[in-house]
Amino acid sequence: MYQETIFSKIIRREIPADIVYQDDLVTAFRDISPQAPIHILIIPNKIIPTVNHVTAEDEQALGHLFVVAAKIVQQEGIDESGYRLIMNCNKDAGQEVFHLHMHLLGGKNLGKLIS
Ligand code: AMP
Repeated sequence: MYQETIFSKIIRREIPADIVYQDDLVTAFRDISPQAPIHILIIPNKIIPTVNHVTAEDEQALGHLFVVAAKIVQQEGIDESGYRLIMNCNKDAGQEVFHLHMHLLGGKNLGKLIS
């Protein structure tokens, strides 16, 4: 229903990506242009362009993003040191890929974004 982005090709493993986790609902892979020592994108397999397009049907998949984030931060050893989860929406947030994604950033002191 919504237009595919490059992320659909990553989900289907049609283009190379460093996938760290995948199941029926979500896929997680390393960002091609990391902004921190650990920068992973966690995305629903279903195309949802932005948070504006989220519906009640998406609750399970989107809740699962957090379950997977909790698994990955343990695997990466940053659960105690800390990390940041970000979702950009539209122009003012600089969203570039219109397939909803959670950025997981860590591995260094990220500074304060919101004070
Ligand atoms: P956003 O600005 O929130 O839309 O973030 C999009 C992110 O996708 C950026 O951090 C890009 O570096 C990342 N990205 C774009 N193409 C790829 C790709 N083929 N593999 C991994 N990450 C990508």
